[in-house]
Amino acid sequence: MHTGKRQSGYQFDLSGGALCLDFANTVSHRHLPPRRAEHLGSYADLVEFADQSKLLPPALAASLRARARRDDAGARSAFRKSIVLRESLYCAFSAIAAGKHVPPADVQRINNYARVALQHRKLARRNGDYRWEWQSNGSDLLDRILWPVAESAAELLTSEARVAIRECGAPDCEWLFLDQSRNRSRRWCDMKSCGNRQKARRHYQRAHG
Ligand SMILES: [Zn+2]
Repeated sequence: MHTGKRQSGYQFDLSGGALCLDFANTVSHRHLPPRRAEHLGSYADLVEFADQSKLLPPALAASLRARARRDDAGARSAFRKSIVLRESLYCAFSAIAAGKHVPPADVQRINNYARVALQHRKLARRNGDYRWEWQSNGSDLLDRILWPVAESAAELLTSEARVAIRECGAPDCEWLFLDQSRNRSRRWCDMKSCGNRQKARRHYQRAHG
């Protein structure tokens, strides 16, 4: 659970192993109101997440920023939708990490977002290869970032990798990740932050307990 900063703005932690989990991890200390840190405060932050996650060609990130400045209401609406999606992703994958069923309302919401995303898929030929691309009708371009996130969520929910979803073992962290270690033994969202903190805590307890 990073609070790490780059020179300009927040450096998102992208160690979740799936785009939808990285997106769910864009708030720190979700359950600790005094320390809760929201890393998505505006549409500009959403573009920054997409940019750092390499969800968008750089030119498109720039044009989304410009468009959001021109269309404040549209940007606010797209931003609100992104937070609603993120909260459902957290509820869904946190439930799975705890061995529980996903609440039906969250399945429904992920379904709704994923179906919108599917409507924007287009098969295209590029440089002799064929691939899926995202297509906007122009008026919904500000939602462009939500489509790959929703697609990632639907894919993870329906894949066998679902059983590897974990919630960080640090008591003050609820970040989610895919445990892809060979013996399924990863316990922390990020060894650099939570892992080392937990080790230091146990070392202190052994020495002073
Ligand atoms: Zn953590």
